[in-house]
Amino acid sequence: MRLLFLILVIVSFSFHGLAQISKIEKKIAGYVDANNNSALKLLEEAVNINSGSMNFEGVYKVGQLFKARLDALGFETRWVDGKPFGRAGHLVGYHTGKGTGKTLLLIGHLDTVFEPSTTFQKFTMVNDSTATGPGISDMKGGDVMIIYSLEALRQAGLLKNMNIIVVMTGDEELSGRPLELARKDLVEAAKVADIALGMEDGDSDPTTGVISRRSSSSWELNVTGVSAHSSQIFTSTIGAGAIYEASRILTEFYENLSTEKDLTFNPGMILGGSDIQRDEVLDGGLAFGKGNIVAKHAVVTGDIRAISFEQLKKAQEIMQQVVAKHLPQTKATLLFDDGYPPLAPTDGNKKLLEHYSKVSEDLGLGKVTAVNPRNAGAADISFTAGYVDMAIDGLGLFGGYGHTDKEFANLNWLPRQTKRIALLMYRLTQNPLGNKK
Ligand SMILES: [Zn+2]
Repeated sequence: MRLLFLILVIVSFSFHGLAQISKIEKKIAGYVDANNNSALKLLEEAVNINSGSMNFEGVYKVGQLFKARLDALGFETRWVDGKPFGRAGHLVGYHTGKGTGKTLLLIGHLDTVFEPSTTFQKFTMVNDSTATGPGISDMKGGDVMIIYSLEALRQAGLLKNMNIIVVMTGDEELSGRPLELARKDLVEAAKVADIALGMEDGDSDPTTGVISRRSSSSWELNVTGVSAHSSQIFTSTIGAGAIYEASRILTEFYENLSTEKDLTFNPGMILGGSDIQRDEVLDGGLAFGKGNIVAKHAVVTGDIRAISFEQLKKAQEIMQQVVAKHLPQTKATLLFDDGYPPLAPTDGNKKLLEHYSKVSEDLGLGKVTAVNPRNAGAADISFTAGYVDMAIDGLGLFGGYGHTDKEFANLNWLPRQTKRIALLMYRLTQNPLGNKK
């Protein structure tokens, strides 16, 4: 009985592992396996070029490395000069196919958090399945996968029919300003595309995908009161003072909004007194005041993160209503900056995750589920929200310790993940999923 059970398990397991991918998909997968060494070489080459966000020459150089590969694949590529937004620029490539399938937007980034001044500069093999290096999983691994998945699709004779846009930004880790200019080309691509695929490493778990990211923006609260001897506080002409007003506002923010699901807002810095000197670069400053003087100024800076545009807008409205009330003889203003928008977990994104999970299972690599959005920071894919029908991120090379000098990649996942992406791209561009636009 037990033996029979074991045999059944083995039979069903192997059936499950082998039977699900088609002949053409096997061809795609075969190319990826056969070319894994050269993919690894490209990854090593890219990692060894320093491309800290502010090393414009390095970012450009990494861009040229991938540009040459996209050119060879028949993409119409261009380098977007980053001067207007104070960064290196972006690599953009368009491939117009003969088919009528959906247009895919593949998103990567060329920069890393490691400037030339840091000690972490080179690709190093730790053992046969692990390598360390600056940006190896965040996200030069994902960039290399874009190249090799496209090459696999071309070799299988499929690329010629596919409509694909590649955008690799040069300032994901430290985005240029104004953001509207820095993300103009990405937004333009999103307007043309039907489906966005982000090649960030996500939470570096092969069993998860990112279908929602919270927004990320900052706010600044400025409060003024009437300065006087403390004995006059609460009188009709002097009122409450700036510090009481600031604390009222923060308390009401907390009382009104702290239990809202997936919303966070954090006051990170506060200055108050009779005189304050704000240092915007350091996000700090000096405050002067005395116990016997009613505070004239207060400033608070913080961030806010929301799961959807609706939630962000609602929270901002409530915060402005709180600010508008005013204790006696005080004034306050609240300003929000234009940060990274939210990527809401739409039905389209959930559907895309199902497609991705199916591909993964068909390749024998298991189910994929959604990451908790509280654990997914803002990223470039968020700029596609509202423009594409479906979006998913976290499709890159898995590893860990991103943004530290221990950043590593699990190289076993280089071919596996390239196959998952290539097959996903193939299936998404087949009818009857067909073109809607
Ligand atoms: Zn990244």
